[in-house]
Amino acid sequence: MDSKKTVRAVAVETLGCKVNQYETSYFLQVLRSKGYECVSFRDRADVYIVHSCAVTAKAGYQTRQLLRRAFRLNPDALIVVAGCYAQMDASRIARERLATHILGNPGKFDLLHWLDRPGTLDSPCIATEGATRPHPEFELLPVSRMHTGRTRATLKIQDGCNDFCSYCVVPYVRGRCRSLAAEEVLSQVEGLAGAGYREIVLTGIHLGQWGRDLEREPDLCGLLKMMDSRIHPPRLRLSSLEPVEIRPDLLDAIQSRPWICRHFHIPLQSGDAEILRRMRRPYDPDRYAELIFRIHASLPDAAIGADVMAGFPGETPEQFDNTCRLIEGLPLSYLHVFPFSPRPGTLAATFSDPVQGHELKRRTGILQEIGKRKKRAFRERFIGRSMEVLLETQIQPCLWEGLSENYIPVSVPTAEGNLRADLLHVKITGFRGEDLLAEGVDEAVCR
Ligand code: SF4
Repeated sequence: MDSKKTVRAVAVETLGCKVNQYETSYFLQVLRSKGYECVSFRDRADVYIVHSCAVTAKAGYQTRQLLRRAFRLNPDALIVVAGCYAQMDASRIARERLATHILGNPGKFDLLHWLDRPGTLDSPCIATEGATRPHPEFELLPVSRMHTGRTRATLKIQDGCNDFCSYCVVPYVRGRCRSLAAEEVLSQVEGLAGAGYREIVLTGIHLGQWGRDLEREPDLCGLLKMMDSRIHPPRLRLSSLEPVEIRPDLLDAIQSRPWICRHFHIPLQSGDAEILRRMRRPYDPDRYAELIFRIHASLPDAAIGADVMAGFPGETPEQFDNTCRLIEGLPLSYLHVFPFSPRPGTLAATFSDPVQGHELKRRTGILQEIGKRKKRAFRERFIGRSMEVLLETQIQPCLWEGLSENYIPVSVPTAEGNLRADLLHVKITGFRGEDLLAEGVDEAVCR
């Protein structure tokens, strides 16, 4: 690569959570503003960036596959791996010569400055900048346009985590909890609402810890209350919240504000008390169940999803059955199921009694089946009823897909025209595949 003049086409691929997606939007926004052409990761580019994830072994594998694909597409390109997997496994990436530059989380945005400096990226070399640097304060990364192009915007307001669940690598690769100041959150929300986003998803690595590192700032519940007197979009959605953080005041604040989506994602991980203790999760199955029933009693139509892990080391068949039994009895709407995979540097990676191979797959499959049934049963409840749907994607001429506030994809037959970002009341008539199907538009919602 001779100079910046030749570095024009950039391809970015993102793995992992909403926080990564948000940060990718920032990468792309800045790259576009500098005049770079952002192309698909299937096309030939001058620079490839894999914004990586380390949460499971599969995410690491996918990252390495993408880096190999980039090399096949253009062996002369700069191949940059950034983010969590780059932070966790820099030595392997360097040893296998999978990337020219390895940027951990603290140093990844340096790339945007390098691209301005002719010569900085001239010759590919294995460089591991930022892989060992301390994490900075919360970095303000204002994004005015999501790269996903959706009608929903994500807003990252928190990073890092102060808990050290025994299986989780996140506190090691993302650092400690840090938050975006309340006034800045409010002004970002106003900006996105003003830009036409009808829904904003507040997100973080550990959203419930928002504000804990800030002096004289409220907690998440206080932040939601502050929005009453400010401009906000018709819908605000909260991403994952830990069970111990959904206290009665937060639940009341959500219940009394119709513009906050009736959607909770509450990691469970295991339904067995001993496994939860070994995971270092700060609750037991009874407390989790009590919370889910309390939410369901106050907001019966709310979606309540859960993360569940299959095959944590030492999980006996009886302990696994305890998880299945607990989930079967709870009004959950969907599950995200993960087979346990040891993450280097975590306590659980040192446990000597793994559940492996066929048995790990079997338990994962059973939980996935339960999740499928739960999802179908939840969605079925809305057939014959009206729902409010935010249209996002045209899937056929005169057929759009959107999302209900309680996180159900709904297909809506419409008149011709661009209806993206329309908020409609529709009547649900049945299923279309796994999605719900509406018979047509009842009325447009004016807000
Ligand atoms: S709460 Fe536990 S699982 Fe969640 S990010 Fe922190 S350490 Fe990981």
